[in-house]
Amino acid sequence: MPTPLPAPYFVAASTPAAGLVGLDPADLARDDFIAVFTGNEVPARAQPLAAVYSGHQFGHWAGQLGDGRAILLGDIDGPQGRMELQLKGAGMTPYSRMGDGRAVLRSSIREFLCSEAMAALGVPTTRALVVTGSNKGIIRETMETAAVVTRMAPSFVRFGSFEHWRYRDKPEELRILADYVIKTFYPELAGAPNPYLALLEEVTRRTGVLIAHWQAVGFMHGVMNTDNMSILGITLDYGPFGFMEAFDVDHICNHTDQGGRYSYANQVPVGHWNCYALANALLPLIDDQEAAQAALDVYIDAYGTRFDELLHAKLGLTTTHEDDRALADTMFQLMQDNKVDFTLFFRRLGDLRLDVADAEREASDAPLRDLFLDRPAFDAWAAQYRARLRQEGSVDAARRVAMHAVNPKYILRNYLAQVAIEKAQNGDYSEVTRLLSVLERPFDEQPEHDAYAALPPDWAAHLEVSCSS
Ligand code: AMP
Ligand code: MG
Repeated sequence: MPTPLPAPYFVAASTPAAGLVGLDPADLARDDFIAVFTGNEVPARAQPLAAVYSGHQFGHWAGQLGDGRAILLGDIDGPQGRMELQLKGAGMTPYSRMGDGRAVLRSSIREFLCSEAMAALGVPTTRALVVTGSNKGIIRETMETAAVVTRMAPSFVRFGSFEHWRYRDKPEELRILADYVIKTFYPELAGAPNPYLALLEEVTRRTGVLIAHWQAVGFMHGVMNTDNMSILGITLDYGPFGFMEAFDVDHICNHTDQGGRYSYANQVPVGHWNCYALANALLPLIDDQEAAQAALDVYIDAYGTRFDELLHAKLGLTTTHEDDRALADTMFQLMQDNKVDFTLFFRRLGDLRLDVADAEREASDAPLRDLFLDRPAFDAWAAQYRARLRQEGSVDAARRVAMHAVNPKYILRNYLAQVAIEKAQNGDYSEVTRLLSVLERPFDEQPEHDAYAALPPDWAAHLEVSCSS
C-alpha cells in the first residue's frame, strides 16, 4: 500500500495524458484527486501492487531489484486502450532495499516533462499524468522535498521481469509471465509455431525501432539497464536522461556513468546487448538456442531500417541513393568537429533554399551556416547536399514543411527543465505547465516561445544529472 505524504499539493498535469484515461485535466487539481495521486487515498476497487524484477546494471548482474518506489494502482480502459496507472515515489515497498521509496520534486518534474515531450515527438514512451508534491523533506545529496508522479503505460513489465525468474530458476513462473504478456499485449503471437520465440523477435524488433527514434531525436536515456527496458519497446524510467545539444557522438548524459557505457553512440549496441539478456532469460521457454540467436539479428535490421528512414526524413530526402550514407557521415563529422547544436541544425536545415541566386546564398544560409566555425567546410557539404536535393527535384516550400514536421524546434533541454524545477522548488509551478505546453507542440513554430528554442546559457554548462533521484 502507498504511504501517505503530509499536506499534498498539485504541481502539474498533462492534458493529453488525461485524455488517454478519459479524465478531465481540471479534475486532477481537486483535493480528492490529489489524495489519490499522492497515494494518500486508495480508490475502493484498486488493489495496489509492487512488482519484482531483477536485472543487469551497467553490464553486471545486479540480482533482485523490483519496484522500490513504484506502486501500481490498477488499469483503466481508456479511449485508446488499456492503461496501467502507477504512482512513483509513494513510499516503501517490499523491494525498496536501501531506498526510502520516495522521489523528489526535481526528478518527478523531469520524468513528467520528458515523458510527455517524448510522446509529442512521436517516440514510443510511458506517459505521465500528474505530479503532486509535499513539503516533507527527502534526503538526497542535499535536502529536497517529496513528490509523486503518476505514470501510465499499457504495462510496466521489463526485460528484468523475465531475467528475475530465469536466474531464480523458476521456469513455471517464467512461463506464466510470458503467457500473460503474450495474451495481453501480443495476442497476434499466440498462434505462432513458437510463441516465445515470436515474442523475443517482436520485442527485439520494437527495441531496435525505439533506439532508432532516440538517436534521431538526440535523446539519451542515461541508464539503459535491463530493468529499465520495457517489454513493449517503449521508453521507460526517466532519470539522468539528456537531449543532445552540441553534437558529440560520445556524449555521456549521466554524470554517474563514468565509463560512457550509455553514451549516445553506445545506445545502439547496448540496445542489442539488452536483447541478448532478454533472449537468455527466455531461452528455457524458446528451447532452441540457434533460433533465439537468429532472432537477435532482427534488432540490427529494425534499427538500421528505421534510423535510415528517420534520417532521410530529417534531411528532407524522399528517395534513397547509394551516396546518402556518405553525405550523412560527412554531415555528422562536421557537426562533431564544430560542436553544432543537434536540434537547431536540423531545424534550420529545413529552411535551406535551392532556389536562391549565387550572390544571395551566403546571406540566405547564414542562420544555419553560422552554427559552424569552419564555414568553408559547411559550404562544401551544403553544395553536396544541394546537388542531392536537385537530383530528386526537391522543391523548397514542400521540403521545408516536411522537414519541420520531423525536426523539432523545441526539445526538453536540461536548462529549461532546471529553470522550471528551481521555480517549482520555490513554490511557483507555473513554469512547469508553460514549458509542457510548448513541448506538447515541438514541431510548431510558436514564435511567441522562441526563447525556449535558444541555445543553453553559459550557466547550463555546469549542469549535471546523475542517478540520484
Ligand atoms: P533506476 O536505475 O532509477 O531505474 O532504479 C534502480 C532500482 O532502484 C529500481 O529497483 C528502483 O525501484 C530502485 N530505487 C531507486 N530509487 C529508489 C528509492 N528512493 N527507494 C527505493 N527504491 C529505489
Ligand atoms: Mg528503473
